[in-house]
Amino acid sequence: MAGRSQDRSLREELTCAICCELFSEPVMLDCMHHFCKGCIQGYWDSCARIPSCPQCRREFPSRAFRTHYLLAGLVEKVRLCGSAQHQQKMQKHLEDALQARQKEMENFLQRKRVVQEEICGLTKVSGELNFKIRAEFARLHQILEEEERAVLAELGKKEEQSLARLHGHVGQLEEGMAVLQRDIEHVEQTLGKMEEVSLLEVESLDIRPSVRVETQPALDLQHYRDSHSGPLQYIFWRQMLRSICPAPAPLTFDPESAHPNLIFSRDLTAVTERNRAQPVPSSPRRFRQCVKLCPENGYWTLRLRNRTEYWATATPWVRLTPHHPLQKVGVFLDCEEGTVAFFNAGDMSHLFTFHQVSAERYCPFFSTCFSDGRDNMEPMRLCHLAL
Ligand SMILES: [Zn+2]
Ligand SMILES: [Zn+2]
Repeated sequence: MAGRSQDRSLREELTCAICCELFSEPVMLDCMHHFCKGCIQGYWDSCARIPSCPQCRREFPSRAFRTHYLLAGLVEKVRLCGSAQHQQKMQKHLEDALQARQKEMENFLQRKRVVQEEICGLTKVSGELNFKIRAEFARLHQILEEEERAVLAELGKKEEQSLARLHGHVGQLEEGMAVLQRDIEHVEQTLGKMEEVSLLEVESLDIRPSVRVETQPALDLQHYRDSHSGPLQYIFWRQMLRSICPAPAPLTFDPESAHPNLIFSRDLTAVTERNRAQPVPSSPRRFRQCVKLCPENGYWTLRLRNRTEYWATATPWVRLTPHHPLQKVGVFLDCEEGTVAFFNAGDMSHLFTFHQVSAERYCPFFSTCFSDGRDNMEPMRLCHLAL
């Protein structure tokens, strides 16, 4: 509404006081009043006296005025704004603006839905992971608790056995002491009535006590303590390690499938590339050429390129950014889940997981790449987790 009334007052400002229409070819007199060129000229023509301004009556004998181009332009604009064509154009403009905003609104809504789905997904996956982690820890706790119970039970058993032996010994000694006490009393009585006792009776009394209790070996408390202490954490850690399921497979290289340029250590856990091919028996399983490493071909691998670039050979390749250069890589194949996960075995940080991994049979695949003369001469080694 404010716009409308502004339009109206602007229209009034631009209206000629003579013809009461929008200025046509507006001109300005020195008194700063404006009129249509035709109107002021006509007015002056009709004036019987000295030409003057119809508004302020200032006289202009020379009939001088200045064409006001700026005002003419403004009048044209206002005139145009009133036209049906312009109204149509404005309507179209507004409709377009509305449509663009509605479209953007739809776009935002769609994006919001996507983010909300992500929130749901995140919550769901977090819940599943939470459950899985709890279950894994519960298993570890259970193993530790079972171990604790077993160790304490063993300690209790040993203590019970030793106590039984020691208490038995105490009992034997007490029985002996009772016999000795009776003997002492008997001898003392005999001593008290020496005159009445026969010499034969005194001589027949054995000088040595009649009761004997075998000396038992002393309890080795130090040994008892030592055998139940020791590096407990280390011992139980080994137990935990043994409980890892499935246990890591102790892999060895397969010389039958190896490229002829590869040389192995005797135990088949280290391999080095040589410039020259070795004489090897032919086998259909032997790798002789480069293979294209991609999941579609049944290869789920990590690659090191240009010394520092780590890539997962997914489709397309994914650049990895481990915190440290990789020295040892852990590989975890989960046939049930259909995943192959790679870890930095140094700190067990996750590197990459391939999904939808499936095959009838799985084989480990290694490539030393070229030894490049001096560089890359270190053998590639298979590390076994000692259990
Ligand atoms: Zn006029
Ligand atoms: Zn005037």
